[in-house]
Amino acid sequence: MDRVIIIGAGVLGLSSAVELSKHGYKVTVVARELPGDYSVDYASPWAGAHFRPSPANTVAERLEQSLMRETYREFEKIAEIPEAGVNFIPAVEYFDAPSLLDSGYTEWPGFRILEATEYPSGHESIRLGVTYRAWVLNSPAYLQWLQRQAEKYGAQFIKAELGDPQQAVAVYRASQPHGVASDVIAIVNASGRGFDDRDSFPSRGQFIIVSNKCDQTISHHWADGSSTVIIPRPLGGGTVIGGTKEPHDWSENISDASTAQILQRVGDLCPNMVDRGTADVGNTHGFHVKQVYVARRPMRKGGLRLEKVDLRIQDLQATLPLIHCYGAGASGYKVSWGVAKQVNEIVSHMSTISG
Ligand SMILES: Cc1cc2nc3c(=O)[nH]c(=O)nc-3n(C[C@H](O)[C@H](O)[C@H](O)COP(=O)(O)OP(=O)(O)OC[C@H]3O[C@@H](n4cnc5c(N)ncnc54)[C@H](O)[C@@H]3O)c2cc1C
Repeated sequence: MDRVIIIGAGVLGLSSAVELSKHGYKVTVVARELPGDYSVDYASPWAGAHFRPSPANTVAERLEQSLMRETYREFEKIAEIPEAGVNFIPAVEYFDAPSLLDSGYTEWPGFRILEATEYPSGHESIRLGVTYRAWVLNSPAYLQWLQRQAEKYGAQFIKAELGDPQQAVAVYRASQPHGVASDVIAIVNASGRGFDDRDSFPSRGQFIIVSNKCDQTISHHWADGSSTVIIPRPLGGGTVIGGTKEPHDWSENISDASTAQILQRVGDLCPNMVDRGTADVGNTHGFHVKQVYVARRPMRKGGLRLEKVDLRIQDLQATLPLIHCYGAGASGYKVSWGVAKQVNEIVSHMSTISG
């Protein structure tokens, strides 16, 4: 049987593991962090995570759109499985400085432009409001569900940190009773920011999980480029509110000023969430704070890297295809199934050619 080694157990590595195993490949995932682990550089468990349309004007944006549509369709099926932690709920989005709405927004289920009377009060700066149907998910629970799906199809998971992608073969070989790795046909690099890629960089995000409830996702995009977001997490995961977008900022420290600003802005945007009885307790503006955290989104100049290259493996005295899929930035969940299907297509095309 053909084996594929996947580096990384974030949403891209795990979705690819499920897709490849479903199509009959033996999969070994090698990752520094696995579902259940938390680290500032393991973006996936920290994501809200929710669907939000994005523009589709350039070639790169249109590619992202097609990956997002594939993913949206897959989530419609997965939402039928309660333990996966995926739900569909109404979404509303407000813009202070809207650019022209294009098919990137208007062609999603439930899309409608809001009347000005539907804007939140006290927000005179809003120029446009839209609504559509969005998926939301409980990212830590969803990652564990993905791992269980991959394991059901026979995927194997190894926890290890690699210095470069070719070390994945040695790690896999060491896990085999006879120390053989000749069945490996490809390596997938789903390591978030990649290995020594100068185009990769982090975008710091400070977010808060509160137990106050909300029954829709709400986003407000301010004229200065900042955003306020409210994302309910299924399976009793509370509500994720935020947040900051700070490209190239490596700080792991919590900023008290950002925390105060998020709580204030979310309370103004959605007053129904605020618990008036505890409005002054602990200076949390009526929110029951479960966790304040910082995580790094895996950004990349030029966007997602999804391509096959050749990799010389000294250990095997051979060259293997290396399929890069990293640099998903703030959209890893939104494109995850589209990416996984592309990875499977690249691998199956390759194995057909090599016979
Ligand atoms: C606060 C926040 C909110 C977000 N909200 C959303 C949202 O609403 N919607 C959305 O679509 N996206 C959202 N994102 C973005 C999304 O989380 C990321 O795009 C996505 O998680 C990236 O997944 P990934 O699998 O590429 O990388 P990661 O999740 O970072 O996983 C990388 C994997 O590679 C492994 N790895 C890395 N280096 C090595 C090495 N040297 N050796 C071995 N293993 C290695 C890691 O251990 C890990 O297993 C959000 C992100 C943040 C931080």
